Amino acid sequence: MIKVCKFGGTSMADGTNYLRVREIVAADPSRRYVVVSAPGKRYSGDRKVTDLLYETARDVKEGGHVRDAYEKVAERFRSIVHELGLAMDIEGVLAETADAIEHEGSEDFAASRGEYLAGLVMAELLHVPFLDARLYIKFSADGRLDGARSYALLREALKGKPCAVVAGFYGEDAEGRVKTFSRGGSDVTGAIVARAVGADLYENWTDVSGFLACDPRIVASPAGIPSLSYKELRELSYMGANVLHSEAIFPVREADIPIRIKNTFRPEDEGTLIVPTSKYDFLNRPVTGIAGKKDFTVIFLEKSLMNAEIGFAYRVLEVLLRHRVSFEHIPSGIDTMSFVVDSAELTGGILEQVEREIDEAVHPDRLSVITGIALIAVVGHGMSRKIGIAARLFDAIARAGVNVRMIDQGSSELNIIVGVENAQYERTVRAVYEEFFKDR
Ligand code: ADP
Ligand code: ASP
Ligand code: MG
Repeated sequence: MIKVCKFGGTSMADGTNYLRVREIVAADPSRRYVVVSAPGKRYSGDRKVTDLLYETARDVKEGGHVRDAYEKVAERFRSIVHELGLAMDIEGVLAETADAIEHEGSEDFAASRGEYLAGLVMAELLHVPFLDARLYIKFSADGRLDGARSYALLREALKGKPCAVVAGFYGEDAEGRVKTFSRGGSDVTGAIVARAVGADLYENWTDVSGFLACDPRIVASPAGIPSLSYKELRELSYMGANVLHSEAIFPVREADIPIRIKNTFRPEDEGTLIVPTSKYDFLNRPVTGIAGKKDFTVIFLEKSLMNAEIGFAYRVLEVLLRHRVSFEHIPSGIDTMSFVVDSAELTGGILEQVEREIDEAVHPDRLSVITGIALIAVVGHGMSRKIGIAARLFDAIARAGVNVRMIDQGSSELNIIVGVENAQYERTVRAVYEEFFKDR
C-alpha cells in the first residue's frame, strides 16, 4: 500500500505544524511520499510565503536585489528551523537562494522557492531524501505538463526510496527554466507524484475536514461531503471551491487513484473521499455541493432567425479567438445566445473591441453586455434523477429576493449554473444552501 500525502500552506505554516505533519506521516507506514506547499498564513492578516516571494520578484525586477519581502521569507524559515532544533545550515541556504533569485530574475523561479525551502526543511525533519521538482516535473514547449516524461522521471527517482519529500507547485519548462503551476498548484504536484508511483491513495491534507457543501467563509460550518465523484469534484473546484486545484484531478483520474481530503488539525476526522465516477455511491442526495465565483461578463446577443443562420456562433467565436479570450459557458435560446466570460479576460479595452467586432461579424438585432455577474453552480449526479430540483432551486433564490440574470444547465445534467449580480452572491449561496442542506 502506498499513500502520497500533500500538505497545504496552513499545515506548513510554522514549526509546530511541521511536527504535526511528522506525526501524521509516522502514524501510517504507507504514507511514503510527502509533497509540501510553502508556509501559508499563521493567523488572519499574516502573509503567505508565496505572496512574499511574488513581491520579492517585483523588487528584483525593479532594483536588481531582494529586499524586505525576502527578509520576511528568510525569517519564516529561520524560525521554523529554530523551533524544530534542526542542525541544517539554513543561513547558507537562504543566502544561496537570494543569489539564485537575483540571478534567475524570473517571477516563477522566485515564487517556487517557498516550496523548495519548505521541502528541504521537511526532508531534514523526516530524515528522508528531498526531490527538487525542477528535475522531475517537466512542461512541454506549449506550456502544458509533459505527463509521460514527468511520471517516468519521478518513478525512476523514487524507485528504491522507501520515503521522500517532493517540493510542490513547480517544475521545469522546455527551455530549462523553472515554471510554476497556477496558484494552489501543489495539489497538482501531489497528484502527479501519486500517479507516478501508482499510489493506492492520494491524501490531501489541508485546514478543513474535507470538502464542504459550500464555502465555509459564506455559510458558517456547512455540512461535510463524505464522498464525491471525480466529475463532481471537477465541477465544484473549477467553479471556485478551491479546496483542491481544479487540475489536480487529471493525473489521478488516468489511474483511478482515489483522493482523500483530510484535516491536518483534526486527523481523526474522516474527511472526503473522491472516487472514480463509476465507483460513486449516490447516497440518495439530490445536490452534492454548491460553489461559485464573482466577476463574470455576459455578452448577450439576440437576432431573429439566428437558429437558421449557419455559422453564427462560429463567427462570434472567431472574434473571441482573435483576442485570445476564453469563455466559460454559452447559454442559448432559439434566437438568443450569450457568452459568459471571466471579466479579467476583457480588461484594457478588449471588451469594447470584442463588442465592436461581434457587431460587425454577425449584425445582431441586439447586443448587450452585463458586467459584475457572479456564477453559482449547484452540482450533483443526483439532480438528474430527481424531479423538481430546478423548481426548488429557483424558488429558493426568488424567496431570497434575488433576480436571476442567467441560467445554464450543463449538458451532463450534473450541474445548474445561475448568474446573479456580484452583490447578491453570498445571499444566493446561503439561500441555496438552506434549501438543500438545512435538514441534513
Ligand atoms: P491549502 O493551503 O491546504 O492548499 P487552501 O486554502 O488551498 O488550503 O484550501 C482550503 C480552503 O478552501 C479552506 O480553508 C476553505 O476556506 C476554502 N474552501 C472554499 N470552498 C470550500 C469548500 N466547499 N469546502 C471546504 N473548503 C472550502
Ligand atoms: N504556495 C503556492 C500558492 O500559494 C502553491 C500551493 O500552496 O499550492 O499558491
Ligand atoms: Mg490549496
